[in-house]
This record gives sequence, C-alpha cells and structure tokens, in this order.
Amino acid sequence: TKITDHIRNANGKPIFSIEVIPPVKGDTLKNLLDNIEPLMEFKPPFIDVTYHREEYIERPLPDGTIQKIVTRKRPGTVGICSAIMHKFGVDPVPHVLCGGFTREETEDFLIDLHYLGIDNVLVLRGDPAKPFNTFKPKENGYSYASELVEQVANMNKGVYLHEEDTALSPSDFCVGVAGYPEKHFEAADHEIDFQYLKQKIDKGADYIVTQMFFDNQKYFTFVEKCRQAGINVPIIPGLKPLSTRKQLQVLPRIFHLQMPQDLVTAVEVCENDQQARQVGIEWCIQQCRELIAAGAPVLHFYTMGKADNIAKIAKEVF
Ligand code: FAD
Repeated sequence: TKITDHIRNANGKPIFSIEVIPPVKGDTLKNLLDNIEPLMEFKPPFIDVTYHREEYIERPLPDGTIQKIVTRKRPGTVGICSAIMHKFGVDPVPHVLCGGFTREETEDFLIDLHYLGIDNVLVLRGDPAKPFNTFKPKENGYSYASELVEQVANMNKGVYLHEEDTALSPSDFCVGVAGYPEKHFEAADHEIDFQYLKQKIDKGADYIVTQMFFDNQKYFTFVEKCRQAGINVPIIPGLKPLSTRKQLQVLPRIFHLQMPQDLVTAVEVCENDQQARQVGIEWCIQQCRELIAAGAPVLHFYTMGKADNIAKIAKEVF
C-alpha cells in the first residue's frame, strides 16, 4: 500500500511511523527486530529503513602513505525491508540514494524492490562521503535527488534506461523526498532550497518527510510556505526525542538545526542523562500533541537505534 493511501485511509486520524537504521556490519537482525517489536502496538502502517553507503577517513601514516579506514557501512536495507514485511506485515520504505550508485545500478535496485512487492521509496541524494565536504556523485550517477525522482517516475510510466521498447511493464512506486524546515545546510537561503524542493515534487514525488526539528513553529512555517508555493503533497514531520545531554550539541551539528532555548535550559539543569532523557520525552510529547492538533498526517519517529523512549511517547499520544 502506498504511503499516500495509508494517509487517505486514516481519514484524518494521525498515523504512527518510525525509521530504523540497519545494524552495523556483522551484527544480527534479531536485535533490530526485537527492539522495534514493542512499537507494533501502535500499528505503524509503514517503517522506513535507511541506506548507508561506505564512508572512510584517510589517515596519513609516518611513511607518507595514506591509510583508508572504513568508518561506516551499514548494508542490508533490502533484507531488512523484506524481514519487516514478513514479520510484522508492515509496509517497508527503503531509502534510495543517489550517492554511490550509477543510474543503472539504481534501476536494478528499484527492479528488485518492485519484485519484492515494495510500494514505497524515499529518494535522497545522500550526504557527502567523509572526508569530503561536498557531495560527489558516482560517475554516471546523480547529483540531486530530483534526478532520481525523475528516474522512478519514468519507471512508473514503463520507461527504463537504454530501452527502446516503450511497452515494458511499469513499476508503481509512491515516492517520498526529504524537506528541511530549518533549510538544507548547503542551500544559500530558504528560497533556493524551496525551489529545489518544489522541483522534486514537480518531477513526481508524492510526499515529503522532514528533517527532525524541536521547535514546531519551524514545521508550521515550512508547511505554510510549501502550500503558498503550490506544494500540496502530505508533509510528514520527522521527530526525534532528545535522549542525552550531549545531544544538545551533537544533533544541531549533525542535522543543522536549532534547539529551542526552553529545551536547552531544561536539559542544562539535568544532573544526568536519565533526567535529560525524561525532559526529551516530555518535550516530544508536547510537540506531538501540538502537531496532531494542527492536523499533521503522520508522526514519524527517528529511532536511531532506540525504541523504548518512543514507546513511552506513543503511549501518551496515540
Ligand atoms: P537534494 O534534494 O538533492 O538537495 C541537496 C542540496 O542541493 C540542497 O541544498 C538543495 O537545495 C540543493 N539542490 C537541489 N537540487 C539542486 C539543483 N538542481 N541545482 C543546485 N542545487 C540543488 N542520508 C543517507 O545517507 N541515508 C539515508 O537513509 C537518509 N535518510 C534521510 C531521511 C530523511 C527524512 C532526511 C531528511 C534525510 C536523510 N538523509 C539520509 C540525509 C540526506 O541524504 C542529506 O540531508 C543530503 O545532504 C541531502 O539529501 P536530499 O535528498 O535532501 O538532497
């Protein structure tokens, strides 16, 4: 089932959903599935599964050579999607990246997803691979998510790469894209970022999921500007409960967002992470209540490997 149909079928009732991250290389799937199982009580109709390509740092050695150290590679997105579908009967939403792939590899990947009966994809460019500061596409890959949206939209019309035959069987993916209430960090200003978001929708994206934010006003303003710009697709707020004191600094740095002063003040007086976590949970509950009252179609939680605080929030909110 498509995300847009899930939203339509909910008839205005807010939907609970989550994003999970594949385990690090060599870890087992069991931990991930056990971790999210308690959240099934809140009946998520879909679960996003992120995709992470290999990243590395270069360390100069005394002999002048450079050692390449792989720092992050979390394969397994497709397998996890399949497991989620079979174990929980929930629609998985694999993230599909521009970075690290040629368009041919992407086509093959999408064909696999289609064969598996996966109806939804979240299309993303991907971050610059460490140690670089700027994004570099793979040769014959894409520089922007909008180009990949166009490829999926073409496949949905039965138009594949390098095929003359136009009578090929089409896929039928519902396509999500990312939106940034606090602006994407590379965009010179909000207006430009907005134009490119609009481009992703014009090329065929069906819904938007936002980067996490802690100040609902940022989301409300973002939605308002989208509507003024003629973007009429559902805009799903992405939420992450703050869970340690350190995250006050870490999350703004990684995700390019601002922490509201009231939250900063409340966390700063905490004596330990347990207290900070409780403040984070309560803050998120308030955010959820306000978002639901304002008609947000879905509350989408970034688990980042932790599900127990999200269960506490969902218990209060759903
Ligand atoms: P784009 O929409 O391509 O935009 C990237 C930048 O380029 C923006 O600054 C935009 O303004 C600009 N731009 C867009 N089009 C053009 C154009 N035609 N000309 C000039 N500039 C342009 N990363 C992962 O690696 N794996 C994941 O699973 C993952 N999941 C995510 C899920 C969500 C909900 C979000 C919000 C982010 C996720 N990310 C993930 C991070 C994402 O890959 C980064 O934020 C990335 O830097 C931008 O991706 P995008 O799809 O928004 O890029």
